[in-house]
Amino acid sequence: MKRKSRFILYLIACLLPVVDRFFTNFAIALLIGSVQVGSMDYFIKICLITIGLIILGVILFIISRFMRISFMRDTLLDVRLMAFDKIINSSYKSFSQKSKDTYISNLINDINIIEREFFLSLINIIYNAGIYIVSLILIAFLDFKFALIAFAASIILYVTSKLFEKRTIALQERVSDENEKFAVDMSNTFNGLEILKLNRIEDQFLSKALKSVTGLERKKLDYNIYTDGQSRILELLGFSFLIISLIYLSSLFMRGITLTEGTFMVQLSNSCVWSIIAVLPRVNQLKSSVKIFDKITKYEEDTSNSLTKDKEFEFEKEIEVKNLSFRYGEKEVFKDVSFKIEKVKKYLIKGPSGAGKSTLIKLLSMIYDDYTGEIKVDGVDYREIKEKSLNDNVSFIYQDVFLFEDTIFNNIALYKPYTEEEVLEAAKKSGLDSLLSKKENGLYEMLLENGKNLSGGERQRISIARAIIKNSKLLFIDEATSSLDEELGRKIEETILSLNSTVIAISHRYYEGITEKYDYVLEIKNGQVNQYDGNEYFMEVAI
Ligand code: ADP
Repeated sequence: MKRKSRFILYLIACLLPVVDRFFTNFAIALLIGSVQVGSMDYFIKICLITIGLIILGVILFIISRFMRISFMRDTLLDVRLMAFDKIINSSYKSFSQKSKDTYISNLINDINIIEREFFLSLINIIYNAGIYIVSLILIAFLDFKFALIAFAASIILYVTSKLFEKRTIALQERVSDENEKFAVDMSNTFNGLEILKLNRIEDQFLSKALKSVTGLERKKLDYNIYTDGQSRILELLGFSFLIISLIYLSSLFMRGITLTEGTFMVQLSNSCVWSIIAVLPRVNQLKSSVKIFDKITKYEEDTSNSLTKDKEFEFEKEIEVKNLSFRYGEKEVFKDVSFKIEKVKKYLIKGPSGAGKSTLIKLLSMIYDDYTGEIKVDGVDYREIKEKSLNDNVSFIYQDVFLFEDTIFNNIALYKPYTEEEVLEAAKKSGLDSLLSKKENGLYEMLLENGKNLSGGERQRISIARAIIKNSKLLFIDEATSSLDEELGRKIEETILSLNSTVIAISHRYYEGITEKYDYVLEIKNGQVNQYDGNEYFMEVAI
């Protein structure tokens, strides 16, 4: 409906072949009728008219195709963009609930379903509806009683087809789900191919893959058999109606209608019934493709809690965690924990593996909100804060830095409109000067796929520059230096501790003379978080 005028054009284009169909029907009726007339001149005239109508039909077909194509192309492009937008704009929480391959399946397989089922159904529905309406009107003009019989027959066909509707939609959805599963399975196999080969377990995966393909094909077969069966049953009803109409027409012949009239009426009743038989399964297919459209484009409401998220993330003073408890199902990670994060201070999270360090970062960065207790920033409950507002104010630095195949400039600015001076300053503050002076194009040097042409330290510096330019109030760091050598690690840690942001970091490395600069240590032990002064904590460690 976004392109109303072009949709009307599309509608007309779908109806053009209807004109052709009736011209052809009429030409055939005239040809057969000419036998009754018995004149050669009349026959030749009719032949010429028929040839003319056939040529007209071809022209109409070509015009119709051209009129339809651009509307279809642009609408499909919109669907792709909407599906892409939904994925990109989903919250981290809902995005991470599904495998990435599910989204790829939505973008490829589901859009193909829409392309095939939706547009093919739509054109068929419009075309056949046109045929149905025009046939019925023409029959009504020729013989009103016969039109009533045809109308009654179409009602019976409609009711029968309704019986199939629900299951057609359900079967189509199952095909879509199976497509997602197949994409995830295949991707797992390909991602782990090296391990599979090294451990010689390809065969197990081959049989798993076969099962996955068989599952998908079976669901497609179910759908095809069901929609086909539906068509066959409707066809059977259609034939029954045709027999009735032939009996009725023979009675009209007795009353003396011409051969042309009779032939035309046979064809019209044929068109009337077969158009409805052709259209009804298409309506169900159309509805099922609309369901798929909804699935890949509509946002799911976040009903996890009833609070409205309309507050801004304003962090001028402190984040207060009070009586916080959190569990993954049966596994309790935090039990009644309370502490505070003060602005601009640097916090180091310590604790054995599995203690809950990453979980604490996920709670403080709003990735999880199914905790009990409170997390408040300057007195505002986390659950009332707009996710976007938090995202605008925080940055993450992980062990793995994702880099785009683009310039250093864009990798730092992340496509936001920063000036060259701003980017350069952030690059310098994060210690990227030596890299920039080495590169011929400086900031405009292209990085290879995921930054293959950078060292681990340089990659980390780019992610620090991203945080600096964003002027993030809060910086979460998870093992940023653990893959770097001692010397580089020290330098990165030093840079991080010199920043103006509040830092909450996980690191198992200890850099003498640097790590002590953390203001506080949050030590996680047995579901509790104990806060220590940085200096004191490390003095004790040293002792
Ligand atoms: P750390 O970062 O300290 O190594 P985590 O915060 O990753 O620990 O995990 C804390 C505990 O919670 C661990 O026992 C881990 O197995 C469990 N855990 C982590 N993530 C999940 C999850 N998504 N579902 C269930 N359990 C999890």
